[in-house]
Amino acid sequence: MAVYNTTSLNADEFINHEEIQETLAYADAHKNDIDLIDSILEKARPQKSGNGCRCAGLTHREASVLLACDIPEKIERMYEIAEEIKQAFYGNRIVLFAPLYLSNYCVNGCLYCPYHLKNKHIARKKLTQEEIREEVIALQDMGHKRLAIEAGEDPVNNPIEYILESIRTIYSINHKNGAIRRVNVNIAATTVENYKKLHDAGIGTYILFQETYNRKSYEELHPTGPKHDYSWHTEAMDRAMEGGIDDVGLGVLFGLESYRYEFAGLLMHAEHLEAVHGVGPHTISVPRVKHADDINPDVFDNSIPDEMFKKIIACIRIAVPYTGMIISTREGEKVREEALKLGISQISGGSRTSVGGYTQAERPHDTEQFDVSDQRTLDEVVKWLMEKDHIPSFCTACYREGRTGDRFMSLCKSGQILNCCHPNALMTLTEYLVDYASDATKKVGFKMIEEELKKIPKDKVREITAEHIEAIKNSDRRDFRF
Ligand code: SF4
Ligand code: SF4
Repeated sequence: MAVYNTTSLNADEFINHEEIQETLAYADAHKNDIDLIDSILEKARPQKSGNGCRCAGLTHREASVLLACDIPEKIERMYEIAEEIKQAFYGNRIVLFAPLYLSNYCVNGCLYCPYHLKNKHIARKKLTQEEIREEVIALQDMGHKRLAIEAGEDPVNNPIEYILESIRTIYSINHKNGAIRRVNVNIAATTVENYKKLHDAGIGTYILFQETYNRKSYEELHPTGPKHDYSWHTEAMDRAMEGGIDDVGLGVLFGLESYRYEFAGLLMHAEHLEAVHGVGPHTISVPRVKHADDINPDVFDNSIPDEMFKKIIACIRIAVPYTGMIISTREGEKVREEALKLGISQISGGSRTSVGGYTQAERPHDTEQFDVSDQRTLDEVVKWLMEKDHIPSFCTACYREGRTGDRFMSLCKSGQILNCCHPNALMTLTEYLVDYASDATKKVGFKMIEEELKKIPKDKVREITAEHIEAIKNSDRRDFRF
């Protein structure tokens, strides 16, 4: 029997089944223990430290107690603390990105994804470099600066050389004032050598969803193909970091297994990365199973209601305070609005989840990976965010300034957000407003920028930001950053 060991490189030891079961039993036994819950909440609360504040975070056991607790006033307190943490480390900024599907060829048999090999009626498509150019131009014309590329696992159709060539193509396109400044990559688990190649190609975050941390469920849900190998998949982030990738993004597909099991596994994975590599995950995504061609989410009997989904988001925010949290257009406007308050720091907008979807006037469904619940345009999402008092940000500065991994984390922990992320958000929002926004969005946006500029604490930073904003408005100069 594998023994729990957070620093082990063996999947069954750092995501240890017995440890998860004991954690869940401990959480059940203590879910009404008010003194313990209060002490965990006190530990989680942001504490003043120098000019900024610090958060201790929580262990998977402590966080699992909070998740199990169903005392309404304690849940309210969790939401308040999640909001405080969000404000302390991320302010009211929300970073925007879009997925770009390169190919839906896939040799795996994942039971929850329409791209699985046995789905013979879905149209298969792989973008040529010319088609990628067209998609990227369409994305730049929407105003996007940050993409997450997606491709199925297929060594013949989507080899690593194809992915690398596609990344080069994406970075090379500058249409009008547009540019994609950060390409995050969501492709199958691969070798250290291939991760090195991705690192050398200048990717941002490497994202790989675990889908489920329960080995038995994992093997049943992935009956065929290379993804069937649970250890290979679960140990992928260690190989990615060994290959030089500092920023990795975790996530599970909520609805496949019991959410409490996934939650504990996810936090153990984060603890493992911190213990072994000195830096936790850059982001955590919280997708839920959705309807798609050939996939009926009702067959997975672990679907989670919206209220529980909110609680999961708040508890992740509290447990890993410095990690970015992502919610996609799988979720509708109402859920996204509530999730933003509780800790989400990145959202996709104007997404098309089909291969080649951005160059078509109507949302195509023939190659779609999942139904998009939030179907608003990027401009509508940007305006909506501002009306809800969030600053839409297209910032990619850290990656471009080499602030990745622990250097990014120290920026986050130093409380310099108002002097760094905040001005970057305002400058990139100005770029968006000048180059792409509708008149109605411009009106709301410029007013917001005027007010938000006043909140930059350092006089010098505020002056420089104001100068750069004027330069963006009055010239073609772009890409200012701190
Ligand atoms: S989830 Fe990924 S690996 Fe699985 S079938 Fe879909 S594209 Fe392929
Ligand atoms: S400055 Fe860095 S941490 Fe802040 S928003 Fe930009 S990329 Fe993110």
